[in-house]
Amino acid sequence: MMAAGRAAEQGATVLLVEKTHRLGNKVLLTGGGRCNVTNTASPKEFVNAFGKNGRFLYRALTVFSNSDLINFFSSRGLEMRVDPDGKVFPVDNRAASVLAVLRRYIDDNHVRILHNTVVTHIIFQPGEGLRAGGVGCADLNELVAGKVIVAAGGMSYPKTGSSGDGYTLARQCGHSIVPLTPGLVALESAEPLLQELQGITLKDISLSVLVDGKKKVSGHGDILFTHFGVSGPTVLMLSGIVIDALAAGSPVVLSLHLRPAYTAQELDHILQREFESRGAITLARYLKDALPKAFAPFFERRCVVEPGKRCSKISREERKRIVLLFTDFRIPITKPRPIEEAIITRGGVSLGEINPRTMESRIARGLFFCGEMIDVDGMTGGYNLQAAFSTGYLAGESAAQIQ
Ligand SMILES: Cc1cc2nc3c(=O)[nH]c(=O)nc-3n(C[C@H](O)[C@H](O)[C@H](O)COP(=O)(O)OP(=O)(O)OC[C@H]3O[C@@H](n4cnc5c(N)ncnc54)[C@H](O)[C@@H]3O)c2cc1C
Repeated sequence: MMAAGRAAEQGATVLLVEKTHRLGNKVLLTGGGRCNVTNTASPKEFVNAFGKNGRFLYRALTVFSNSDLINFFSSRGLEMRVDPDGKVFPVDNRAASVLAVLRRYIDDNHVRILHNTVVTHIIFQPGEGLRAGGVGCADLNELVAGKVIVAAGGMSYPKTGSSGDGYTLARQCGHSIVPLTPGLVALESAEPLLQELQGITLKDISLSVLVDGKKKVSGHGDILFTHFGVSGPTVLMLSGIVIDALAAGSPVVLSLHLRPAYTAQELDHILQREFESRGAITLARYLKDALPKAFAPFFERRCVVEPGKRCSKISREERKRIVLLFTDFRIPITKPRPIEEAIITRGGVSLGEINPRTMESRIARGLFFCGEMIDVDGMTGGYNLQAAFSTGYLAGESAAQIQ
């Protein structure tokens, strides 16, 4: 929508071909229906949020930055608010309001829309060199056009319409696709009894990813236990490293520090004091008070100390085992949830084959790519939508201007 609107605003006659009966199905799901549109991060932080491929976005983020995006909405009557962590949402907390502004943008610029139409291939103009000449659609004649922008999204949440067609279209044109993996996704564990924890959230903990026993990265936040393993924003954020390590055949373990404000030594002193002052109660009772109720029995089983033992009777060795569990509670990870459940798709059209100044294909003239289908994926926090909007804006502008 951003690409189509910007191209039309620049004077192009634009036809937007959409597979489903409605534009923006995925936008409606974003941010739990509230749509985390962008982030107030600096350009450098923005680029860093996309890892090693972030530099590719530099031009797009300069041409259409996060403040340009905020202005885009506010100048069209949709004010934005900023959370303390920099995440930007519409003030009314409605993704539908974001979609309505985008829709008005393309309507005001006279973009024609063809719904329920699946693009199946790109057609090329006759003559020397590869030059896009339109698209072929299922159940329809070919649509002739001087330029083609492919903005078909990734392949997660396929019911929204983005089911990986963009990669097929790009491949048909000779583009290479960096292998597709789930991004920002929940993780599965084969840990017996973990299912008992389904629905429990541990809040304000520290979470580290151990690969081959070595700490690779840590995050702070909440963890949610599910019927298959673990989820929640911090898990999603760390999932990329987990997926890469599992793909390389390395064992991966999540280590939870349940009292991140304290070191193991400090916690040992705290427990020692508390076990003395509350000596008459049992360990089971103590853990029930110290941990979410449903989590306590699971913890208890792991620490191999008789739960009926009075706190005053707990030995130094036993206390050390309890401290270790508080600071390094391990959950082995077997695999990520499937790509269909991922927030984004990692991998995509290889960046070396796209001109970052225009988003035009380096293989076929007049062919442009933007959005999630190119090989960039960012952290949670509004980065992915901003990348889609920025690359879409740049692709639309370039398609309208380049001869
Ligand atoms: C549950 C969920 C929550 C999210 N929350 C956030 C968030 O809060 N903030 C954030 O920054 N990001 C979020 N994201 C990620 C973000 O939504 C995507 O990165 C973004 O929508 C990508 O935009 P896009 O235009 O590239 O693709 P999409 O939004 O997927 O749009 C692609 C469009 O192309 C159409 N299409 C596909 N194939 C064809 C074809 N062959 N012919 C015609 N049309 C076709 C599809 O129907 C679709 O309309 C979230 C994602 C999910 C799944």
